Amino acid sequence: MSANAARRLSRMFHRISVAISAEKDHLSDLDGAIGDADHGITMALGFQAVNGELTKRDLDQMLPSEVLSVAASAFLDAVGASTGPLYATAFRKAAQALKQDEALSAAGQAAIVEAMTSGIRERGKGQRGDKTMLDAWIPATEAAAAARDRQASVSAMWAEIVDAADAGARSTRSMVATRGRAARLGERSLGHIDPGAASAVFIIKAMRDTFTENEPAE
Ligand SMILES: [Mg+2]
Repeated sequence: MSANAARRLSRMFHRISVAISAEKDHLSDLDGAIGDADHGITMALGFQAVNGELTKRDLDQMLPSEVLSVAASAFLDAVGASTGPLYATAFRKAAQALKQDEALSAAGQAAIVEAMTSGIRERGKGQRGDKTMLDAWIPATEAAAAARDRQASVSAMWAEIVDAADAGARSTRSMVATRGRAARLGERSLGHIDPGAASAVFIIKAMRDTFTENEPAE
């Protein structure tokens, strides 16, 4: 079971990498409006590095938490910029959460989302409304927790997580950046979606596609 679970997480990282690479130019364009136009490139490099590292590993001998730990290190090595430590901490926290229960149950999947968000939050010392990736991740986590509490099906849970993340990312358009490079723009950051929130939605959708494979639709 845990061997299958490790493979599943590895597939998840592959999906994330494909999605982010496909949206690389779009994400860099979003970053170009309020930052230094490198977000698509750095995120694509980060997830390509994660995949490269995972293909070298024997997934049959690995636990899901170990897949996340490998991802954390590979992402950090590849991405020195601000998102590197944020997602590295997110994956490390998720690894810690999974050590309690390595089965990727619905509750385990919700725990991954929650742990990733708390990692990003702690590392970036940010909050909702800062016009960052947390504006996607925090609503996603709230949706995950609510779905878990009422024992929603996996597909219902992920539909709600994706909707919440997507609405959260879109809401950054009407926010003024208070953190990072975009903060220097002040009011001029209005009207642009935050690139980190946009890439978070692609990551979360790839997670949904992985975890809802072979799950009955609602
Ligand atoms: Mg940038």
